[in-house]
Amino acid sequence: MSRRRQIYEGKAKILYEGPEPGTLIQYFKDDATAFNAQKKGTINGKGVLNNRISEHIFTLLGQIGVPHHFIRRLNMREQLIRQVEIIPVEVVVRNVAAGTLSKRLGIEEGEQLPRTIIEYFYKDDALGDPMITDEHIAAFGWASQDEMHDIADMAIRVNDFMCGLFAAVGIRLVDFKLEFGRIWDNDYSRVILADEISPDGCRLWDMKSNEKLDKDRFRRDLGGEMEAYQEVARRLGLMPEGEGHAVLDMDAHRKKRGR
Ligand code: C5P
Repeated sequence: MSRRRQIYEGKAKILYEGPEPGTLIQYFKDDATAFNAQKKGTINGKGVLNNRISEHIFTLLGQIGVPHHFIRRLNMREQLIRQVEIIPVEVVVRNVAAGTLSKRLGIEEGEQLPRTIIEYFYKDDALGDPMITDEHIAAFGWASQDEMHDIADMAIRVNDFMCGLFAAVGIRLVDFKLEFGRIWDNDYSRVILADEISPDGCRLWDMKSNEKLDKDRFRRDLGGEMEAYQEVARRLGLMPEGEGHAVLDMDAHRKKRGR
């Protein structure tokens, strides 16, 4: 069998040429990075869980009419996706103060925001993904006004849906990051949801204990990353029957670490 052509390697994923024109294969790695890749590590099995969690969420979003790039999962670590022209804007949706918003504005982590806030960041590792506004996006032509309108609409729909999905399993959706891409049909283009949705790009807190069930465990050296990702998958009903009890609960994990 001939080797597949690699199109792109990112921090957590690799993209390969797909079986048909206009498709790609998205491979989920176990590599974890934080703070613009200044911190690097591996979370064993993360890629497998993120592939499954992202498949689940994209499939449900498709069912409520959000257009996206996901076609189907191919195996444990790979999914077939539509090739898009990535819009170089990271879209962050926030419901609760945390992370860089808390740092920037001095708002305590965990404070419920008076309304959902959408922020934009320019996708450029060398610049450290700086925060930008609609003005920059329009002025530099990263996306048109119509595209940004569609993006903001989709981001709010995704947020409403995911808040409910996670609340139903006792998880607070604090914030998350989305990416969008353009697909072309002759001279016309439209914007669809791309990338992944997983605990790598979301803040997910247990509603009762406020335990973090996301990549902040890695960013902040809390340990138990794998258990947290497994817990999210388990609550979403994605772990095979009988493995539920094998999931280390976060309480046990904390006791083991003496915290
Ligand atoms: O770090 P910050 O508070 O701005 O992150 C907001 C949300 O966006 C978090 O859920 C984080 O996981 C996600 N994010 C991401 N990739 C980035 C920056 C933020 O997934 N490059």
